Formats: sequence, C-alpha cells, structure tokens
Amino acid sequence: MSAGTQAVTSLRAWLERMAHTDRLAVTKSGVALRYEVAAIAKRLDGHQAVVFPEPDGHAIPVVSGLVARRAWIAEAMGVSESAMLSHFQHAARNPLPWREIADAPVQAEVHHSVDLKRMLPAPTHNEHDSGPYITAGLLIARNPRTGAQNVSINRCQISSENRMGVLILPRHAHAFYESAEAAGDALEVAVVIGVDPMTLLASQAIVPIDHDELEISGALRGAPLDVVKCVSNNVRVPSEAEIVLEGRMLPTVREPEGPFGEFPQYYGPRADRHVMEVDVITHRERPLFHTIVGGGLEHLWLGGIPREATLLDHLQRSFPSVVDVHLPVGGVCRYQLIVQIEQRQEGEAKNVIMGAFAGHYDIKQVIVVDRDVNMHDPNEVQWAIATRFQADRDLMMISNAQGSKLDPSARDGVSAKLGLDATVPMSAEPFDFTRIRVPGEDTVGLGEWLAEDPLARLESVLGS
Ligand code: MN
Repeated sequence: MSAGTQAVTSLRAWLERMAHTDRLAVTKSGVALRYEVAAIAKRLDGHQAVVFPEPDGHAIPVVSGLVARRAWIAEAMGVSESAMLSHFQHAARNPLPWREIADAPVQAEVHHSVDLKRMLPAPTHNEHDSGPYITAGLLIARNPRTGAQNVSINRCQISSENRMGVLILPRHAHAFYESAEAAGDALEVAVVIGVDPMTLLASQAIVPIDHDELEISGALRGAPLDVVKCVSNNVRVPSEAEIVLEGRMLPTVREPEGPFGEFPQYYGPRADRHVMEVDVITHRERPLFHTIVGGGLEHLWLGGIPREATLLDHLQRSFPSVVDVHLPVGGVCRYQLIVQIEQRQEGEAKNVIMGAFAGHYDIKQVIVVDRDVNMHDPNEVQWAIATRFQADRDLMMISNAQGSKLDPSARDGVSAKLGLDATVPMSAEPFDFTRIRVPGEDTVGLGEWLAEDPLARLESVLGS
C-alpha cells in the first residue's frame, strides 16, 4: 500500500487539528451571509480557517479557508512540502476504487421538498456577484455512455427554490452533459458540499476523461473512499460528506448566471448557462456548509497543488529532463507555469514549453528555469528572466490558441501563449553563468561573531 495513511480523512478532524494549533477562528453568531462572511474569511485568508455559527441566524454553520496554504495542504496529506507533488502524482497514477456502503451519515436526513434559499446558508461574496452561490460544491456526474464518474468544482448560483445556474467549462462534465443532451436526456448529477481535504484536492486533479477523481481521494487516503448511492439517482457520493444536492442538468435549458468573482480576481460575466434542477437534499445531522471565497488563497492553492502534480506527471512522461513545476499565486495558480529542467540537449526547453501548453488549456505563459533557480521565489524567477533570457532567441509565441474563458484578456477563451526559455544555453561558457557566492555565507556563525552590546561597541569604534 502506498503512503498516505497519515492523511487527514475527515473535514471535522481537519477543523479540530486547525483549532488545536491556533489556525481556526470561530465567530460569534449572526455574521451576515451577504458580504460579511466573505469579508472576515478574506481578512483571515492564509492565516486562519473560520467557522461561522448561525450565520444570519441560520442553523447550519459556514466554514471557509480550510486549505489556504501550501504547507497546510502538505500537512493534510501527511507528507513534507517537498514530497507533496510526487505523493499526489503517485495517487493519480494509482487510483483506489471506492467502496459502496448502504448506511451513510450524509443521508441521515433526506428532504424531498427542496428550498435552496431557505435550507442552505449560501453566502454572497463579492460586490457585483449576482447573489448567493455554492462555491465549494463538488459536481459529480456520470458518463451516460460508460457510467464512469467525474468530479469537478463548479460555481452554482442559487436561482430559485430548486434551480441553480452552473458554469460548466469545456472539460469532462461538459462532455458527459453534451452526450446526454444529444440524446434528449437530462444528466444525473450531485453537488456535494463539505468534504474532507483529500477529496477536495482529488477533485482538482487533471486526469483523462473517465478517470473518477474519487478514486484519487482513495489513493491519497491509503484506503478506499466510502460512497453511497444517491437517493434519487445513480450518482455515488462520499458517504461522510456534509450536504448533498441530488438532481439533473436539464437538456437544452439555459438561464442567466453571473456575474461572479472568480479565481483570476475578476468577475465572470452574466450569460445564459447550464441549469441544474435539484430534486432531493440529504445531509448529516448538524451539517456544515463549506464556502470558498473566489480568488482567495484557498481557491488558488486548492486548484494549484493538484494541477502542479498532474502537470508534472504529464511533462515527465515526455521529458525526463523535467525536475519540478510550479503554478505561482501571482499567475493565479492556473495561468503561469514555471518548469525547472536539467537540460541535456540544446533546445529542450522549447520542447518542454510546447508540451506544457498541451497539459491544460488554462496554461498561458510558461517559464523554463534551471535547477539552481528556486522557482518558489518570484524574485529568483525574475532574476533568471533578467539574466538568462534573450527575447529574440528565447521567446515563443503562439496566437489564437484555446485558453481560459475566465481570462478577461482572452477573446471568449481564445488566447495567445507565451513561452520564455530562461535557461542557460548549453553552449555557454560555464564561468559566464557561475552564480557569485561568498564562501561561508550560509554557514558562518553569526552568534559567534556579533557583539551583544552593539551600541557600546559602536561608541568605542567611533571613539566617543
Ligand atoms: Mn475529470
């Protein structure tokens, strides 16, 4: 069995771990769902997760900011930060099928009569958002042709008592929807709110179609994920989740959705989008409602780490020279990819750039650096570009490629790609690119040499 048995496998256990290590804030009752929840979560973003009991007097507490740091994600996975990507890679390559059970905590209460606005404490986050949204809901869909499941996080606007406007970007859930719609059928789906950190991370893996991301959660946990069949359809959902909305994506129906504040820190515009009709709501006893504030660190890192791991896997299949990858926060953990290589052949960095664009359409800019550059430090990356990159030799540009529809500078998802080869040419004179270094700068004993009374020492130096 793979490592991962020390992973945190329940949302409640993770909240307790955060609470015991001063990384969890709990508010007083009555924080307003409109803006106030998001304002407090954003103020604490990356410092503390937050629990909001009785928001607007609602019985269900809201939680936010659970995985808002790189180090927290490694900790939840039970590995060191440096081992995090290879650990996730291993899980994505070796998925563990889930185990179906009959009695699930998430079905402790079953509501056949649905009123989303009344039953869920869905917050409104940003100034120009169209209203309350479910932002941390895992959309689980079944391929109508193969029965394989797909998991993704899609923003869900609460449009009426039982309808939600859902943004489905052109990946796997979208393909399932299109084949159902072509046959005139609705697509059976579930939106799952409040899952453990491993399932949250697994939902963001970039794996081929018909690879069920819930099986990656199993591999990360080191044990199969328990799932249960929905009450009203055939979708299987994590049995320990907090809340499940069961329903159908309606064929041919499109209704207005948005605007909504997204990860690039801009609004996704209002447009006619897919519609989910909710048939049944099930939940645990005393459930929690997880919300992810758009564009916050939880949103960025949650998408970033699984993408880094699966993009690294993708690149290493073609390029043994690739050592590591990073999706920096400044590139919204989606659009800019830094690739570290141990170059063996002249020109390899350019091939790596082309391979990276094929990894995911979101990738817009690729920067390739050598092993001596710390790619987690933006200053180091900028230094490599400043001192190793020549635009007429090392810049690659591709026009009119598929990009992100959420990038406001793209034209409805049609985007230019930019590659920067900031590696040292293999033909270069090695001394020209030898980094200056003071012998002992890392090891010299400051405690041994620094005066304990600098003021007195200075006075004696100046002779006053
Ligand atoms: Mn998928």
